[in-house]
Amino acid sequence: GVAIRVENLTKYYGGPGGTKALEDVDIAIDDCEFISIIGPSGCGKSTLLRVLAGLHGFDTGSARMFDAPIDRPRDDVGVVFQTSNLLPWATVRKNLTLAVEIRHGQAAAAAADVAGMIDLLNLNGFEDKYPHELSGGMKHRVAIGQALMQNPRVLLMDEPFGALDALTRDRLNVELLRLWQRDRKTVVLITHSIAEAVLLSDRVLVLSERPGRLIANLRIDLPRPRD
Ligand code: ADP
Ligand code: ADP
Repeated sequence: GVAIRVENLTKYYGGPGGTKALEDVDIAIDDCEFISIIGPSGCGKSTLLRVLAGLHGFDTGSARMFDAPIDRPRDDVGVVFQTSNLLPWATVRKNLTLAVEIRHGQAAAAAADVAGMIDLLNLNGFEDKYPHELSGGMKHRVAIGQALMQNPRVLLMDEPFGALDALTRDRLNVELLRLWQRDRKTVVLITHSIAEAVLLSDRVLVLSERPGRLIANLRIDLPRPRD
């Protein structure tokens, strides 16, 4: 089925007459598809992701997720931003369970499989460390773990590894693929790396210079490491 359907979406900051960030965007994303969005800086990638996350309204057109209008954040959507939002005073374990506690309550947090997530994230032995004791890549993995702990149907990621060096990015991308293989969900990833987009995705959407219009929809036909 279709997970996300965006039709004729136009978004201004400050209303018509302000900054037009997105123009007439049409996108359909299937359930369990892995989509990357690329385009020049300022073209509206983050704006689009925030619309999909229900964090921004828009001016014209429509945006639906699992056939419901997107008009607020949803519990079944995980969002990961470039700067991870780890709580500095909380351990890795606590950072992972707090995300669940906030959305689903204490009982759900207590029942959550933290050990399984730590294992999946390759963070064994770091359960009781604080964010400042982790490397940049580890922090990003915890941030992705926070989103995954809520077992979202859709994972929206805005340059989750943007600030990291190339080698760390490559390693994290391999881990991201491994995660996706194990537990398929719909993923929308914003990246400025074409290589990353091609490595990871089923499809790459390209936005034009601002205002962001969809100028290409590229299906990746090469065999992927996951295949
Ligand atoms: P990208 O993620 O592709 O770099 P953005 O979605 O962040 O692009 O921004 C798209 C355009 O909208 C840019 O021109 C940017 O300056 C503008 N913009 C982004 N956020 C705001 C905001 N909160 N208020 C006004 N203009 C904004
Ligand atoms: P901005 O001006 O920064 O783009 P918006 O006005 O788009 O912010 O969104 C303001 C608030 O409206 C958001 O905090 C969000 O909860 C809510 N909102 C999100 N999507 C929609 C929507 N489709 N229609 C109306 N309100 C929305």
